[in-house]
Amino acid sequence: YQPLAEADPEVQRIIENETYRQFTGLELIASENLTSLATMEANGSMLTNKYSEGLPGARYYGGNEYIDQLEELCRKRALEAFSLDPKIWGVNVQPYSGSTANFATFTALLQPQDRIMGLGLPDGGHLTHGYYTAKKKISASSIYFQSFPYQVDTKTGYIDYALLHKNANLFKPRLIICGGSAYPRDWDYAKLAETAKGQGAYLMADIAHISGLVAAKVQNNPFEYCDVVTTTTHKTLRGPRAGMIFFRKDRNPEIEANINAAVFPACQGGPHNNTIAGIAVALKQAADPAFKEYALQVIKNSQAIAKTLSSHGHKLQTDGSENHLVLWDLRPLGLTGSKIEKICDLAHITVNKNAVSGDTSALVPGGVRIGTAALTSRSMTEKDMEKVAEFLHRAVSIAGVLQEEAGSKLLKDFVAKATTGDGKGRQ
Ligand code: PLP
Repeated sequence: YQPLAEADPEVQRIIENETYRQFTGLELIASENLTSLATMEANGSMLTNKYSEGLPGARYYGGNEYIDQLEELCRKRALEAFSLDPKIWGVNVQPYSGSTANFATFTALLQPQDRIMGLGLPDGGHLTHGYYTAKKKISASSIYFQSFPYQVDTKTGYIDYALLHKNANLFKPRLIICGGSAYPRDWDYAKLAETAKGQGAYLMADIAHISGLVAAKVQNNPFEYCDVVTTTTHKTLRGPRAGMIFFRKDRNPEIEANINAAVFPACQGGPHNNTIAGIAVALKQAADPAFKEYALQVIKNSQAIAKTLSSHGHKLQTDGSENHLVLWDLRPLGLTGSKIEKICDLAHITVNKNAVSGDTSALVPGGVRIGTAALTSRSMTEKDMEKVAEFLHRAVSIAGVLQEEAGSKLLKDFVAKATTGDGKGRQ
């Protein structure tokens, strides 16, 4: 048992450098967070050594006395964290990630080539919700199922529920998926449930991004309306990297067995018990009243960024945010998300390029996504966010200087303001 620094100084150095990067830069990736020391300890524990295919009390390996206790505890905490009645809801905590949680759910609920409808990737949806392009079926969810994505209204940036309803009547999907990776607004689950019911379709919410906010009850509650809810555990929920699947047992007596069999043996092998321990720790923390304060602050922070950027005349999809993220449309400035991502990297501000509604290229998208979960974990508040937004505004102004000759009039105005020192671009 040699410590890492002695056994492998090369890897130790890389970890130290990454730790330094995470705490000295401004981490604004909307899908990331800074998990607790306790969660990381559990995640890096002896539990990584154990094989435990199967479920508590029904394993394919011996020696699972403590692992069974752990998985039972994690499942209990998962249901408690979302205030779910164990008679109505069950949960599988073994998915290795959000993607496998989603694919296992499709495996459990659908037959090959069944029809699914999820929010399109360029509109803020996730790859695993049926993404394909004109040239290629990209996600396995579009290879094995027929995908009919729905969209946001190009003018408002909000989900077009009326068109979704109309198209569901036309396409007759077996599954409607709600939830996304770059949608700055809350979801109308009641409306979606009505549409799903009309088609006899399952309704699944993928709350990967907002699960911490849902647990803290500062977003609408998908559990009131959905048959299945999947999530990652490492975004606003602030746990280790993994996934969970919640399923509603009272409407479908077979769903529990189907979801469990879809996770193992259909899609996965042995559970990652060290990760399950990390999830259990994070769920205990999410049940603490302090976590509700955290979740509320996450939203206040993204609204502070939105307000400051808007005050500089920038265009945001849906003109604001009611969750942990802001989607910034750079197209009126003639800039691409890739450019801003690179320039921000040079300033140790980490954002990611992102498609905005109406974009035609996922490779050179016209926006960036900004999330506040990680900086809020560093105890930052609205005042800090105003500064962060000013830095972002300056990054855009610098990008403008760099491509001035190709820039639009609006862009030139920003550059002029930033360089004549009217104070706004130089704080
Ligand atoms: N679902 C949504 C909505 C996501 O945003 C993501 C990842 O960002 C995933 C699923 C996939 O999660 P993972 O990267 O853990 O596979």
